[in-house]
Amino acid sequence: MTSQTNRRDLARQTAPIPCYKVEQLPAKYGGDELYDWLRTAVADGHATLKETLEIPPREARSWKVPAGCLWRIVCHVGPQVADMNCWSLDHPQQERFYSSKTRQIHATHLKRGDRLWSGFPYLRPMATIVEDTIDYGFDEDGAGVHDVIGSRCDPYTNWYMTKQDNNHCCHSNLTRQAVQADGLKECDVHDVLNVFMCTGFTKGTHQYFTKPSPVDVGDYIEFLAEINLLVSASTCPQGDVSIACGDGDKEPTVYPLKIEVYELKDSEHLTSKGWRPSPMNGYSGNHVATSSASELLEYRDAP
Ligand SMILES: [Zn+2]
Repeated sequence: MTSQTNRRDLARQTAPIPCYKVEQLPAKYGGDELYDWLRTAVADGHATLKETLEIPPREARSWKVPAGCLWRIVCHVGPQVADMNCWSLDHPQQERFYSSKTRQIHATHLKRGDRLWSGFPYLRPMATIVEDTIDYGFDEDGAGVHDVIGSRCDPYTNWYMTKQDNNHCCHSNLTRQAVQADGLKECDVHDVLNVFMCTGFTKGTHQYFTKPSPVDVGDYIEFLAEINLLVSASTCPQGDVSIACGDGDKEPTVYPLKIEVYELKDSEHLTSKGWRPSPMNGYSGNHVATSSASELLEYRDAP
């Protein structure tokens, strides 16, 4: 027991040790100066609007973003959160957004400069947040915006809570879009970036909580695609998420959201500053027998 007690005391008395040093991650190609330039590239007239679309309330829409292009999710009608998925356009069923590793690398909530990482065996930046007009930080309850701690609302948990079918949960919206528009399956829908959502863990019991989203009309979050991407987002049926899930007495107000995809007018600008699409992860794959490792690399490096 003495040793156990010592271990308990050791844990309680040791200050938190951040697991990953962000400076050891791959540097942004082109450096901070280029990403600062990108932050205002649209406002400064360096980018052209290539595509715009609206995600209707309680639905999902998907769009493609070539590497080196930008996209925005814009709050243009009323306070509304979105659940976003992200796949490699070149092999969407193999490479997709890895929210828990992104959380481990950066934080519970993402901010300007943070990156969206893909899953194994790729693990590379898929996108970088170049602007976030909300810039909320963390409030006194520990809540932040754009979390990677919650998953998406889904009809399965909802069924337990309400014993009713709800076909317009974010998971269902993303699934419908993935199956009907993108040739994917339900199992390709994955844990999301909760765009504009204000969340945290309660101090006493560490339960997931939400607050009314601080997003206002005119706010947007903007990303640079670091590889060719297929992106999808759902306008959450919880609206601004000011009402708890399964609270059947109240009906949330749900608004559409606008998507804008931009391409830089000077297509050579990024590469002239040292930027290039994210390369494959450099790990050899040797954690399995050599023959399997080569198979793994073949799979990973396939176009
Ligand atoms: Zn939702």
